[in-house]
Order: sequence, then C-alpha cells, then structure tokens
Amino acid sequence: MTPTREEVGANDLDARLWLGALHRAADVSARAVSLESAAGDVMAQVCSAAGWPVAWLLAVAGGRVEPTHVWHMTDHDRYGSLLAVGDEEGMGAPLAARAVALGEPVWTGDLAEVGAVCTEAAHAGLSGALAFPIHDDGDGHGGVVVAVVQCFSVRAERPPPDVVAMAAAAVGQLGRVVDRERAAAASDEAVLMTEVAHDAYIAVDELGRIVEWNPEAEAVFGWSRAEAVGRPLVDLAVPARHHDDFIDHLGRVLAGDARPLAPRRELVALHRSGAEFPVQVTVWTNGRDGSRRICGFVRDLSERKRFEGQLASQALHDRLTGLPNRVLLRDRVEHALARAGRRGASVALLIADIDRFKLINESLGHDGGDRLLVAVGERLTELLRPGDTVARMGGDEFALLCEDIDGYKDAVSIAARVVGAFEKPFQVQGADMSLTASVGVAVGAVAGPAPELLLRDADVAMYRAKDGGRDRYEVFDETMLVDATERLSVEHDLRRGIAEGQLRLYYQPIVHLDTGAIAGFEALVRWQHPLRGLLPPLEFIPSAEETGLIVPLGRYVLQEACLEAARWGDIHPSGERLRISVNVSAKQLAQPGWSDEVAQTLAESGLAPRQLVLEITESVLMDDTDTTAVRLEELRRLGVRIAIDDFGTGYSSLGYLRRLPVDILKIDKSFIDGVAEGPHESALARAVVKLASTLRLEAVAEGINSRKQLLQLRRLRCPYGQGFYFSRPQPPAAIPRLLDLGALEGVDPGE
Ligand code: C2E
Ligand code: MG
Ligand code: MG
Repeated sequence: MTPTREEVGANDLDARLWLGALHRAADVSARAVSLESAAGDVMAQVCSAAGWPVAWLLAVAGGRVEPTHVWHMTDHDRYGSLLAVGDEEGMGAPLAARAVALGEPVWTGDLAEVGAVCTEAAHAGLSGALAFPIHDDGDGHGGVVVAVVQCFSVRAERPPPDVVAMAAAAVGQLGRVVDRERAAAASDEAVLMTEVAHDAYIAVDELGRIVEWNPEAEAVFGWSRAEAVGRPLVDLAVPARHHDDFIDHLGRVLAGDARPLAPRRELVALHRSGAEFPVQVTVWTNGRDGSRRICGFVRDLSERKRFEGQLASQALHDRLTGLPNRVLLRDRVEHALARAGRRGASVALLIADIDRFKLINESLGHDGGDRLLVAVGERLTELLRPGDTVARMGGDEFALLCEDIDGYKDAVSIAARVVGAFEKPFQVQGADMSLTASVGVAVGAVAGPAPELLLRDADVAMYRAKDGGRDRYEVFDETMLVDATERLSVEHDLRRGIAEGQLRLYYQPIVHLDTGAIAGFEALVRWQHPLRGLLPPLEFIPSAEETGLIVPLGRYVLQEACLEAARWGDIHPSGERLRISVNVSAKQLAQPGWSDEVAQTLAESGLAPRQLVLEITESVLMDDTDTTAVRLEELRRLGVRIAIDDFGTGYSSLGYLRRLPVDILKIDKSFIDGVAEGPHESALARAVVKLASTLRLEAVAEGINSRKQLLQLRRLRCPYGQGFYFSRPQPPAAIPRLLDLGALEGVDPGE
C-alpha cells in the first residue's frame, strides 16, 4: 500500500500547490471577520500543501499561550482524541511559547515539547511538530505575536526550510485579520466587520502601486486584477482633481507623518468608464521597514446614495403631482415665518380644498381623478410668484405659501385669485370639467407662532368656507377657533363610543405571495357611529391620537384582536399558525408598563406570543428614543414580532433598522402603486425588498390592487402581501369562509 501524503510528509516543494495555498490564505485573511474563522481554512491549506495531518490554533494573551477550539485534522477517527486533551486547563505548550519568544517558526522532533497533547499525539502516530507565530501587523515578522499555529507531522525529521518558509508565509497572512480586527475595534464599529466581507480589498506598496485587488475591486472599479496590479492606484481610481492631495497624503502616511484615513471615510472614486462615484473607505497600514503597504476596504456607496436620495425626495414630495408635501410645506412655513419676523413682512398661508371631489373622482375613475389633481396643481403653481410654494397636503387639498406680502389686503387678493383660478374648466380625458374650491386664509407675521398654528388657522378658515356654501374663501379670525372647539365634540363622542362598544374590528388577510395562502390578518379598526354610520380610521384616529384617546382605543383593539385570533385555532386547522397584526400608536408604546399589558392580554386570550405582530409606523421608530428601544426589547423578549408599518414614507435615516429589534418591513402602498408600470416605477419597491432581505427582515407589500402588481412583486421575490386584490378588510364573520378557501390567489402555471 502506498503511504498517503500525510503519512510521509511532503519532502519536495510543490510550487503549484503552495502558490494556491498562499493565494487562498491571503484571500481568506482579507475577508474573514475573525482570526478563528480564517484560521481553520488557512490551516487546511497549509496542511494539505505540506502533507501535515493536524494543525491547531493557540491564542496568545498577555504573553501566555492559551488553547483554542480551532483545529484542522485530515482524519478525525485517528486524531480526534487530541481535541479532548486540548480542553484541559493549564496545558503547558513549550513549543508554542518558544515560537512566541523568538517570533519565528520553530520545529521539534520531541513531542514532549508540545505539552499536554503529547501522549495522545504520539499514540496517534505523530512524531514532530512546528509552531508558526502570527504577528499582529500581518507582516509575518514584525509587531507582537498574537497567536500561534501548531502543525504536527508524521515524520520525525525537520521539514525542508523552503516548506517551513512557505507555511510561515501562509500562516502569517492571518495577522491581517488581527490587524483589521483592531482597526475595526478602533473605529468602534463591530458592524464594520460583518459588512466588509463584500467590499473591495485593495493594497498599495510604498510607491502607491497596486499589489492587491480582489474580485470586488474588479467589480467596483471596472479594472481586472491583471490590469490593475502594478499600476499606480491614483491613475486608476482617483479623480484627477484629487491626484495631488492623494499622492501627498500617501507619502505622509508611508513616512509615518500622517495617520491613515479615519475608518469609514467617504470619498469620491473614479470608475474605469470615467464616471465618479461615492465610496466609503477603511484604511490601515501594514508591515514595517522596507515592505510597508497601505491596505483598504472600499465600498461603493452609489446604490445606497441613489436609494437614499430617492427616498428623501419621495418623503418630501407628493408622488402624483411632484409638488412639495405636507412635511416639506411645514418646513417652508417655519422658515418663512422666521424671515418674516426679521423683515417685518407677513406670510400668507392658503388651504384650497376642491369641492365635492369625491363625486368627481368616482365619475372620472381613479385615473381621471389623478389627472385632474395634477392639472389643479399646475394651475395653482402658475398663479404664484416663483419663490412661493404650492404643496399637496393629501387627497384634494392643496396649500399655497406666499412670502413678503403686505398683510391681509394682499392675502385676500391672492385668495380671490385662487378661487377665480377654478372658473376656467379643466380638460380631462377630452372633456371639460368644472370645479370649484373652498379656500381658507391665514396670515402670520412673526416667528413666534409655530407653523402648526398657521396651518391650523388656515384649515379652520377653509372649513368655514365649506360651511358657508363652498366656492369661496374665508380669512381666519379668532372667533372661528370657538367654532372649531365644536370639533371637540368628536372627542366626547369617541370617548362614549369606546365605552359603549361602538368600535368594530375588520380583518384584512396577509398572504404568501407565491401561493396566495393566508399567513395572517391585519386588524383594522372602524367606528360604528350612531349617526354617521361606519367610519374608517382616518376619520377618528388622528383626533384619538391628539386627545390621548388612542390609548384606551388601542387597548380595546389589542384585546379584541387577540381574542379573535385565539379562536381561529378552533375554527380551522391552519388557525394556530396564523398571525394577527395589530397597529400600535406611538402614544401606546410610550406608556410605562405597556409591555406588561401586552403580556397580560396574551395570557388572558390564550394567544401564543409568536402569533402576534405589532405594527409601528416608521416615524415612531425613527425618533428612536431610548424608550422606544427599551420597549421594543421588552416586547421582543415576550416573543412578539415587530413590524414597521408604512415603510418608506417617513424616511430620514435607515440606521434605526439595525439598532432596533424589528422583524418585518411593511412596504408602503405608495411604492406598490407603480410597481407594475415599468423599471423606473418599480425601482424603489425592488430596492426595499432587497433591503429587507439583506437585513433578514420579512417584507410585506401593502395595497396590492392588481394581478400585474402581484406578478411583479413575485418577480421581485417579495414574500408577503396584502391588498384589495386579495381581499378588502372583512368583518370577523367572514373569516371562516376565507380560511376554508385556503389560497386567495394560486400560482398560475401559465405565467
Ligand atoms: P395601515 O396600518 O397601513 O393599514 C392599511 C390600510 O390600507 C387599511 O386602511 C387598508 O384598508 C388599506 N388598504 C389595504 N389594501 C389596500 C388596497 O389595495 N388599496 C387601498 N387603496 N387601500 C388598501 P384603513 O383600514 O382605512 O386604515 C388606515 C390606517 O388607520 C391604517 O393604515 C392604520 O395606520 C390606522 N389604523 C387602523 N386601525 C388602527 C388601530 O387599531 N390602531 C391604530 N393606532 N391605527 C389604526
Ligand atoms: Mg398597519
Ligand atoms: Mg401601512
């Protein structure tokens, strides 16, 4: 029988094998997130090239050698007994200690030198051992020794010097991981380590010439490794206007006069095509004397920037008309008031609401209604001076902000112009449409009043214009506020409504998009008003929020929804797996002891915590107060899942996604609306689905209205969805039938 490579050890130096091993060791070390994770791979490479059957990683802490659990062995049956010995406390390891002291590879043919494992090693037929120090600067011979790789051989003779040298070089690569771990720790970003795995990795020598260029670098910059290596980095990847700074900085870093860039700096880079793009770089120096290198991770930020830009713009503009939305208007009002205060001028804010738009919308159909709104926006924009703002507040309500006006006189004349602007009919779908609007005007002259007050006043005046017969304007005055207090009666009514059991829950199915099977339901509240009929949440939730009534209202919803969901297990076999999603307001979340309340509600209803999903709108999470974080952690501990509702509408920063324990992203309907229209319209939905999968969150698409949207979302691999296409929200009585149906939209094999 011919002996195996391990049994004989490799006497000859197989250059091809070693080159492969070195290359792989460098690559693994450039990517690994920890020494332990890279060591196994590198030890396997070295053992296979050298013909050694066993290798073991030992850590060095405070000069002492410590065993680790990281081993490589070619034959577990044969060498497995070494593992148990390695676990023993207080093992002495003279060979490893000698490697630490010398800072160089050492060999022994006397296994007593390897410490506690020696007896087992001898039993397993091993005869010699080598210890390779790992230096913290990744250079193979400088810096401090932070770990040792100990390899065992079957032969008792010292391996040839070039085999030892090659193995030392491969093991030495592991120092890069340590070096980088330290750079990351210094940047206080543990996160970085998990992220860098997909980054471009580049290193340059002391002349600034590229020596390392991984496949990600090829993808990011457009130059292949063969083209890049040996050329100055500055020529390939740095825009010309930054050349001097770059070369200057590089020189000073290499001379030790400047620190490398702070971790995660954002810079501009150059692509092969000549295009510039934003990158984030983390740089460190490596090696000493003579062989200094500068290494770095480079991440392409263009995709993220584009996405953030789109989100930010979408968050501040109305998608249909492209006009500023309520958020941006509020900001402009605030600035306008501040400027007015300084200049002694006034600001007029007008709210224009189209009369009976609901009827018109129904007669024209959805598309026609949309086009009409766009036309109204355009006409109002033409009416104003360039510096003024026209915003769409939502639905059929527009706002106009005019600066530098001369008090009420000007405000009134603008209001008259706005009402007059509707006299000319609008052209929609080839027909003339006559519209009127009711306009409320408020004037502000000092920085003092909050923008909300001016908005409120204009709103009150607008309602007065509606009450006064529509197609007219009203200027706000204080007496109107008295009328507005009538609206307090809503509060009174609602308080009674909650107490007297007038709230109703409707349930909308959430389905697996690939099969249409029901995964759960979202509970949506309605108010059975004794005079006004069944009211949708938008008619009373805002005032419930304002008055604090949302807390008792939300309590009722949570209790009722849990009781209802707990029954599903009895009416259908799938019932025990279904989830129930309940909307939660910021005010509820802020209540001390609210998590206990949730726990109690679960216990009382008998619903399993894993069945409950709490939906919280994005803006609440973005505030990201300590209370929010603490509360979410408490809920997570209960076993309850957390969803971000209306994701994408309140964007400012995505950082909170990483910090808070979130399980589910509900993609706002506004992203889904355009999803079937084309690549441009679906880009954001695609990005959000991808973001969710990157962060390992479940994505739920909200407001799916058509089969086309469904098919496109399936293509984007969005796992869950809800919308009128599957089912409108249903009263509880309809649920057994839905569960019997099983799937609401099956896979169509023809698609
Ligand atoms: P949400 O949580 O984002 O709920 C989804 C809303 O989208 C529901 O409106 C649902 O009927 C509607 N919807 C679902 N599919 C479609 C579709 O295909 N097309 C269209 N046009 N709409 C669709 P709903 O029931 O009017 O609720 C509106 C909002 O009121 C909810 O938005 C939620 O923010 C709030 N809300 C509802 N119930 C509660 C509650 O119990 N507590 C709190 N705090 N808020 C609630
Ligand atoms: Mg919701
Ligand atoms: Mg939503």
